[in-house]
Amino acid sequence: MFCFQCEQTRHGKAGAGCATGTGACGKDEVTSDLQDLLIHQLKGIAQYRGRLAALGHAEAAADSFLLFAMFTTLTNVNFDRARFVALIGEAAHMRDRLRAAYEAACRDEGVEPEVLAGPAAFVPATTLPELLAQAAAVGVRAGIETAGPDVIGLRALLLYGLKGVAAYAWHAERLGERRAGVADGVAHALEVLAGDPTDLEAMLKEALALGQCNFAAMEALDAANTGTFGSPVPTAVRLSARAGKAILVSGHDLADLAALLEATRGSGINVYTHGELLPAHGYPKLSGYPHLAGTYGGAWQNQQSEFAAFPGPIVMTSNCLIEPDPTYRDRVFTLGPVGWPGLRHIVGDDFAPVMRAARALPGFAADEGVHTITVGFGHDAVLGVAEAVIAAVKAGALRHFFLIGGCDGERPGRNYFTEFAERVPADAMVLTLGCAKYRFNTHDFGTVAGLPRLLDIGQCNDSYSAVMIAQALAGAFGCGVNDLPLTLVVSWFEQKAVAVLLTLLALGVRNIRLGPTLPAFLTPALLDVLVSRFGIQPIGTVEADLEAALHRAAA
Ligand code: SF4
Repeated sequence: MFCFQCEQTRHGKAGAGCATGTGACGKDEVTSDLQDLLIHQLKGIAQYRGRLAALGHAEAAADSFLLFAMFTTLTNVNFDRARFVALIGEAAHMRDRLRAAYEAACRDEGVEPEVLAGPAAFVPATTLPELLAQAAAVGVRAGIETAGPDVIGLRALLLYGLKGVAAYAWHAERLGERRAGVADGVAHALEVLAGDPTDLEAMLKEALALGQCNFAAMEALDAANTGTFGSPVPTAVRLSARAGKAILVSGHDLADLAALLEATRGSGINVYTHGELLPAHGYPKLSGYPHLAGTYGGAWQNQQSEFAAFPGPIVMTSNCLIEPDPTYRDRVFTLGPVGWPGLRHIVGDDFAPVMRAARALPGFAADEGVHTITVGFGHDAVLGVAEAVIAAVKAGALRHFFLIGGCDGERPGRNYFTEFAERVPADAMVLTLGCAKYRFNTHDFGTVAGLPRLLDIGQCNDSYSAVMIAQALAGAFGCGVNDLPLTLVVSWFEQKAVAVLLTLLALGVRNIRLGPTLPAFLTPALLDVLVSRFGIQPIGTVEADLEAALHRAAA
């Protein structure tokens, strides 16, 4: 086992990486190795997919499989080794089918098919011990002795960014939004990785191209969400329970939430969102369900205590699952890419077992006092008050914007983001997205120039909204995004944040503050490149970073 794909990776004398036994997230070494094998096979599928595309043959099923399979390997998504053994078998069948299709297409064209090597020729073993033996040769650090750590680091940047793109694209696809360019970009990057690239400059270009691909994936997801459920509007969400039976839904997937709301319509069971599903309440067609009762709990890392206390079943729709405690394990259900050994997995939107569990469990005995939080400041809502915002900036009443976004985690250093938000001056506005906000989004930030000082743009999946807002403001002020009085303070945790970072770099956004620690897969030499070319800076102290941001804006 070796994994260093997320911010909570272990740091020891031998360097960074979860390397033995069980990772910091709870992923065991068997599952980790099987995930490496699956990724290796996906590269092989991409090799054939690329050649088929060159011959004019689309492969929608393969494209969907690539997205889904990559999504299962994100941090805190799937810990079930049996699911990975099955996916490895599926991947082998998919590769074989594409190889046959490629050879048939070549025959039709009268050309000789290439005999592909590398991942395309990989034959998975039939027993678990043999699979694990094969995994040793295909892990993320394979070849480091000859390629060196910088090459391995850039390959990892590309792979982890790919995983993030896959997650966004998969969510979009579930709501019927596909972009040919995204599928092409994903398959292309996998194919690049299949060739074990070593040219650092070329790989950096591929990483930026992947950032552009992710921009298209995020646009597709935004179109999927707003097209299906309406544009988010500012909406007060209950933080307190209502009397009655209850189901808690966590993760990110709006399609799953909608399916559950539809299944429970008229059942008398209330549905609560958890974690990153909080922004779902801003979508008119979701908030229109009267039994979408409110939100319960906060960020993902608190789920063990929050799930234990929730008096009903819990449905996990995507990342961020952590080891279910025995006190509530039998009430957790998984969907889609998510898995944990022994948890019940829902297939085909059959929520009957979840509803049975809700009826059998106590639910909330009484209404709690009404406390609310306002969400729903997506790009349309924010740009709807753009004139007031621009006027306030021009009048000097609104000095600066701080976008404090990204993922939360367990490390104490993450208090930086809360402290930062709290110390933003009164004449500045805080825009948030992702789960980093749960440490401060219930605090009272008041107003600035008659507008709320804290605007929640949404999930980490709504990063597209933040880019839209920044670009629209830049257009209104007749400047570039980098010239706006705007500072991006990004809390990264897992691979979707890597994809968003690549997008921001591809769009030319500079001077991003990144923390709480920098990605372990980036070597000092790679960090130097990111600092010198893109102005990325690690977070420092709140005081100094705030001062630097305001000073830069004033200069
Ligand atoms: Fe470690 Fe993160 Fe990998 Fe889990 S996902 S094994 S915590 S690096």
